[in-house]
Amino acid sequence: MDQEPGLGLDTPPAKQEAYRVLARKYRPQDFTGLIGQEALVRTLSNAFATGRIAHAFMLTGVRGVGKTTTARIIARALNCIGPDGKRTSPTIHPCGVCEPCIAIAESRYVDVQEMDAASRTGIEDIREIIEGVRYAPASARYKIYIIDEVHMLSKNAFNGLLKTLEEPPPHVKFIFATTEIRKVPVTVLSRCQRFDLRRIETAELVGLLKTISEKENVKIEDAALALVARAAEGSARDSLSLLDQAIAHGDEGMITAEMVRGMLGLADRGRILDLFEKLMGGTLAEALADLNELYDRGADPLAVMQDLLETTHFLTRVKVAPNAEGFFDGSSSEGRRAAEMAAKLPVAALTRAWQMLLKGLIEVRDATRPIAACEMALIRLSYAADLPPTDKLVRDILDGGAAPAPRGSAPAPSSGGAPRAMRNGEGTASAARAPQPTMAADNAPVLRTLEDVVALASENRASVLKVHLENDVHLVRLEPGIIEFRPSPRAPSTLAGDLKQKLKEWTGVPWAVSVAREGGAPTLAETKKSAKAARLESVMQEPLVRAVLDRFPGAEIVAVRDMVSEEVAAPAVEPNDD
Ligand SMILES: [Zn+2]
Repeated sequence: MDQEPGLGLDTPPAKQEAYRVLARKYRPQDFTGLIGQEALVRTLSNAFATGRIAHAFMLTGVRGVGKTTTARIIARALNCIGPDGKRTSPTIHPCGVCEPCIAIAESRYVDVQEMDAASRTGIEDIREIIEGVRYAPASARYKIYIIDEVHMLSKNAFNGLLKTLEEPPPHVKFIFATTEIRKVPVTVLSRCQRFDLRRIETAELVGLLKTISEKENVKIEDAALALVARAAEGSARDSLSLLDQAIAHGDEGMITAEMVRGMLGLADRGRILDLFEKLMGGTLAEALADLNELYDRGADPLAVMQDLLETTHFLTRVKVAPNAEGFFDGSSSEGRRAAEMAAKLPVAALTRAWQMLLKGLIEVRDATRPIAACEMALIRLSYAADLPPTDKLVRDILDGGAAPAPRGSAPAPSSGGAPRAMRNGEGTASAARAPQPTMAADNAPVLRTLEDVVALASENRASVLKVHLENDVHLVRLEPGIIEFRPSPRAPSTLAGDLKQKLKEWTGVPWAVSVAREGGAPTLAETKKSAKAARLESVMQEPLVRAVLDRFPGAEIVAVRDMVSEEVAAPAVEPNDD
């Protein structure tokens, strides 16, 4: 069953029935559909050919890499009876049409049992399996137990399982999956054939996305596919669910890279490079205009700071090792431009920029108005960029030459040589610490609203989760340590689990994340959309605007922007003086 009734309130009924999320529609059904798992296929082929099949398999890899899917394919390979029902041994090419193949794919085959150790960790749960192991399969060749997140089993449960693993009946196979192989006891590991499922390379993912977009008749720019693939960090499932979101965002026409960037909260790398160049070149007014434009297009100030840091890091590395890979693709036009910029900037200026941006990042994160903090940080950076590098200043002073005066009126540094912008009572100690944005529980972020959660995801560069939080979460309840929400039909089934895990990682405390069948607030994306519509509507009612629209037929309102808020907020000066 793809969609539960009652969950589809967001989409019109006709569309809702026809719609199947891409990740489900294109879930691989056999080994040929699995990208990049050649080692596993080769080993299994040999095992099947020689009849030396392990009793237990251990699949490991990061989340989203396809462990459960692979487990089901192995189960089919072991139990396929072929289209004519006459096959008597396992095959590396399960037919996909026989009863076992179909039933296993739908998780309803009586001889293949799936269990999630995350929710059933106790010895009683395992005892059930141990009892069942004694009986022959109902109809299949093998009775198969798939245990997901096996590292979550309790110690007793592992011990119970171990006895069975030591002497398993010939008709039983175990397939374990885990994201944390180190938490699985060695005694268990040593009795399993282990397969490490790797992340899919970005280029491979792009290829997959391209094929699927073509099949789905979706028009999407190559650059947009590359962004989706990069954000998915090697998970086919995540990349498809992001593609789904992009399709939903992009009503009909071409899906552009710019649109996907907006969706992911990323700024264009070329534009980040522009911004950095202006900051380092001292053309501050232009730099601030760039920043505001990025902000208007939906770039998150924190992400801008992070991108600037990445840029600084990349430029510095390029100086040291010309073929450095990283934030920019060396062969792209941006990569070449970055290399040119790196050649002009001294290492001292780059390391100074790094420290100042790092400090700025912390300020932006903690500020009530992140965009203002971001501006202040960039202003400081631009002024400091104007200063000659410290070593040159010192040399000039030692040589008796006058240090060139920077803008403003900073005296040459007298001790320590820290540039002006970094002194002024700010100290560099805080800038030097904590390159990791969020960590420990002692300064755990306070999450009061769903926006706070989104900001936290954004801060931690969890683009996939961020997109789902904005588009797929109908919040029912949010209290310290508790989130309850109704997922939209497009939400991946792993959303609650992923959120739970990430929140624990980011806040340092465990979270109860539960899924509601109904209710919940509109999603953030819906709220934003209706607020925008309402604002446009109210602006349309302004007499002045109406007069303009009347005067210029065919004119349309493209965007509504606030005037500088200070001006609006300031009390009217001398109201009677008219
Ligand atoms: Zn089959």
